Amino acid sequence: MITRQFGIPVTSTGAILRRERDLGTPLGQETAEVLRSGGLVSDTIIIELIEDWLRLHGGHGFVFDGFPRTLPQAESLMSILARLRSALDLVIWLDVSEQTVLDRIAGRLQCGECGFTTSASSAQFANRAICPYCDGPLKRRNDDDLGVLQTRLQEFRTKTEPLASFYEKISILHRIDGNRDRETAASRN
Ligand SMILES: [Zn+2]
Repeated sequence: MITRQFGIPVTSTGAILRRERDLGTPLGQETAEVLRSGGLVSDTIIIELIEDWLRLHGGHGFVFDGFPRTLPQAESLMSILARLRSALDLVIWLDVSEQTVLDRIAGRLQCGECGFTTSASSAQFANRAICPYCDGPLKRRNDDDLGVLQTRLQEFRTKTEPLASFYEKISILHRIDGNRDRETAASRN
């Protein structure tokens, strides 16, 4: 939505990692292997990729979706931006209850071919769940089981939640109620 309205490049660590993998860079191949085996890519690598991306694309504004996720990442980002003589203007914090997360994930479908995600309720498929972009099969993501989800919620509480006060202290945090649907949240804030 931000890209559409303001023409500012948006990226996420997932998008950066997929691009590295598709380009076949040594780092891309290494991280693809880590992700395939269920591991997490280290902060050091993520930070390195973010810095490269910022040097290439961040000259006239940028948006990171889902980054930083930890305090060490946030602190590294501050140093990168200081080196690039840039700064963060705003951090948008989407407040979402654990119940909302559970409800959304229970109803989420992902295309096995292109990765497009949608919700079972908004898709309204007649009989078969087919991707509107590539006709691939829409399935529930296999990492959506409850155990993985509980681990992620726990990680969020311990590692990501502290970022709210980190950014609150430098007065750039803006909270949005993420329990409403996305279009409503964007137009009312
Ligand atoms: Zn698809």
